[in-house]
Amino acid sequence: MAAGHSTRLGGVTGRYLISTFGCQMNEHDSERIAGVLESDGYVSTSDAEDAEIVVLNTCAIRENADRRLYGALGHLKPLKDRRPRMRIVVAGCLAQKDQGAIQAKAPWVDVVIGTHALPSLLALVRAAERDGPQMDVREYTEVFPSALPARRGSKHHAWVSVSVGCDNRCTFCIVPLVRGPQLSRSIGDILAEVHGLARQGVVEVTLLGQNVNTYGRDLTAPDSPSRPRFAELLRAVNEIDGIRRIRFTSPHPHDFTDDVVQAMAESDRVCEHIHFPLQSGSDRVLRAMKRSYRAERYLSWLARIREAVPAMAVTTDIIVGFPGETEEDFAGTMRVVEAARFDAAFTFQYSPRPGTPAGSYPNRLPKAVVQERFDRLVELQERISLERNRELIGDVVEVLVEGEGRKGNLKARSRTNKLVHMSGEVPAGSFAWVELDEAHPHHLAGRLVEAPAAAVAAVAAVVA
Ligand code: SF4
Repeated sequence: MAAGHSTRLGGVTGRYLISTFGCQMNEHDSERIAGVLESDGYVSTSDAEDAEIVVLNTCAIRENADRRLYGALGHLKPLKDRRPRMRIVVAGCLAQKDQGAIQAKAPWVDVVIGTHALPSLLALVRAAERDGPQMDVREYTEVFPSALPARRGSKHHAWVSVSVGCDNRCTFCIVPLVRGPQLSRSIGDILAEVHGLARQGVVEVTLLGQNVNTYGRDLTAPDSPSRPRFAELLRAVNEIDGIRRIRFTSPHPHDFTDDVVQAMAESDRVCEHIHFPLQSGSDRVLRAMKRSYRAERYLSWLARIREAVPAMAVTTDIIVGFPGETEEDFAGTMRVVEAARFDAAFTFQYSPRPGTPAGSYPNRLPKAVVQERFDRLVELQERISLERNRELIGDVVEVLVEGEGRKGNLKARSRTNKLVHMSGEVPAGSFAWVELDEAHPHHLAGRLVEAPAAAVAAVAAVVA
């Protein structure tokens, strides 16, 4: 179908709009939703007024997810009244969790589609056109979303899902409830997808799983010699020509086993960055969260990883104000943050997710207490982030250019996943070498330089 108006559904526009609310898995699914719609001839638009199908791809992990969903649906209601043939689809984790409640509250929603049902999207939209509101929130995955056609947001980077669901039961987390137990893809399927991406010019992949480093655990019996492991997957992706950067998220610290660390150290295309979620530095709170490690253990794992890969950048997630968190518990978090010297941290003020065990814990903290602790933590981490970035001034690093940034600069990423602003004219998707000359808590700046000779030789060896 051309980008112009079509005669689809009796004269409506043939265009779709997707609004993505949440995490990387959510973004990955949005790329698949777009791919499925485009395989049927739809084209994208950024204007809801012009859209025949509007998909709200929700995320139950983010704060106020419900409010955002019903706020967005409220905005769409007058549009739907004016253009009754517009189709409104609610997808993602909230669709899986709230199911029929969504259409009960917002009867103008045409399709509620859960996280396992994406392959049925077109059939549901057509059925809604014919028979009225539809819902598919099945609780099993027949086709991995990765196997669906995709319209990727980037030409040089791709998300590759290696597993869905999670077998852990962290008490604050909604994922096990909405995505179910872990289900891994076969290693052959994953490698075939990455080979295909490399042929299309993708140079960087991020392997995605809710608990990515337990990949393969569900595929065979625990002691089976043929059971694929995450370390093996990393090494296999590392062999694929054309892929120059490999990232993965999100690992659980407990499952960051020696074989994974060793595979990272020995695989030249696996980037020197890990996301290593701490959540709390208090053993008492970690226990209440059902996180299986304690603060000292966490720090010793981190030391082991940095010993194996000294350049490793480490980012983390921290929740402040978990129910019952005392000042002493919080002091434990501050101590671990000082000791760990994270490059960056995603800090969250605890807010209950209905349906999770912690959601019904009684000893909630006053907002002012949580805010004050949160501010102290952010201040500490900003200082550490700035110090970590200052240590890099004068280094010459390889960056992958992402596109235009602010003030006419380019935006790029180092292997350590640092945001780098740089001057110069380099097309998006290209690699360049930059000498870092300015540090800030959340980014670095640098100037374009010639590639060091040793690096040119290494790249030539990789692409030969
Ligand atoms: S490991 Fe991660 S996805 Fe799984 S329950 Fe815990 S926080 Fe949620």
